[in-house]
Amino acid sequence: MPDKNSVYKNTGLCARCKVCREACESPVPITMMPVCPAGITYKFDSYYGTGRVTVARKYMEGVIDYNESLAKLVYSCTLCGACHVQCPINGFDPTEVTRYLREEAAAKGFASKYYSVPEEKPISYEIRADSDIGLLAGCTNNGDETLVKNVAKLLKAAGVKFKTVSPAVGAYSVRKGDKEDFDRIKAGTTESLKSAGIKELIVYSPLDYKTLLLDYEQDSIKISFYTDYLVNLTFKALPSVKKVAYHDPAHLGRFTNYRDVPRQLLKKIENLKLTEFKRAGANTLCSSSLPDCDEKIVATVSSLRLAEAADIGAEMIITSCFNCKRTLEKQAKLENLPISVKETAEFLTELLPE
Ligand code: SF4
Repeated sequence: MPDKNSVYKNTGLCARCKVCREACESPVPITMMPVCPAGITYKFDSYYGTGRVTVARKYMEGVIDYNESLAKLVYSCTLCGACHVQCPINGFDPTEVTRYLREEAAAKGFASKYYSVPEEKPISYEIRADSDIGLLAGCTNNGDETLVKNVAKLLKAAGVKFKTVSPAVGAYSVRKGDKEDFDRIKAGTTESLKSAGIKELIVYSPLDYKTLLLDYEQDSIKISFYTDYLVNLTFKALPSVKKVAYHDPAHLGRFTNYRDVPRQLLKKIENLKLTEFKRAGANTLCSSSLPDCDEKIVATVSSLRLAEAADIGAEMIITSCFNCKRTLEKQAKLENLPISVKETAEFLTELLPE
């Protein structure tokens, strides 16, 4: 293995990949900036996507057994997908390996010790209407009551007729590797949406959006992200010029290529100057904000993201993820930084005309 310290000292890149090693000889292109939250935090080969593939191969070859260290390593991955974009191995997605090893952890009884998320209860917010468009109100471990109210307010302003629905999506069962539990939730949710007559489902959680689009493998219900409906709205101008940076949540900017609509909405606002992070779009730096993420990783990458925002002169970060907003805001307070963080609907609701 190349000398890890010299590689990190020069570029902060993963020490393994040939592409990266060649990049070390030249100025670092934007797409090769470090974006693996687990690797950036623990600075050890096995925490990066490519290192995880090596570990998985040794496990599959029977060289190593499933043990506590392996389970700890497997659940340190934030499943942000950056290695799929930056370190694909002959087209193979390294996150597939993490998903496989998590399913093994669940099957061998390691998952419950190394993986936990808060209890899931439906958010008690209800709008009834005769409509085949549903707004997914969400659950307490992957939703936010204030946000769903803001989203509903914006949708009403945009003239959308909808009702709320609140079945669980099962995103955390996928992340845990509990396939049996996910299949059970998926079957129940699909049936409940069908019996509620839903033809189109609007979601505001990037994780739910990714799960419904990519893990449900259904095409009978159209899945939309709430900002799709807001493009024709007009918003008040900001009182003074503000430079804001849009933070792409990994489940939007990377997994589902949902990058343009939030930017289009922000560009319409007078006195708002939209700037870009150096790590943006498919190369976003995931703030690792989900409640199942390792706390050390969360603090490290949130702090890095805030430093990057300061570097590009942003006075505010806007993101379409309530978890990213919560995490970045918490870290900014801890570091006493003069930057505000807002979720897109929270920001736009304040700019709706009276
Ligand atoms: S999914 Fe994200 S955290 Fe996990 S190895 Fe890949 S880049 Fe790192």
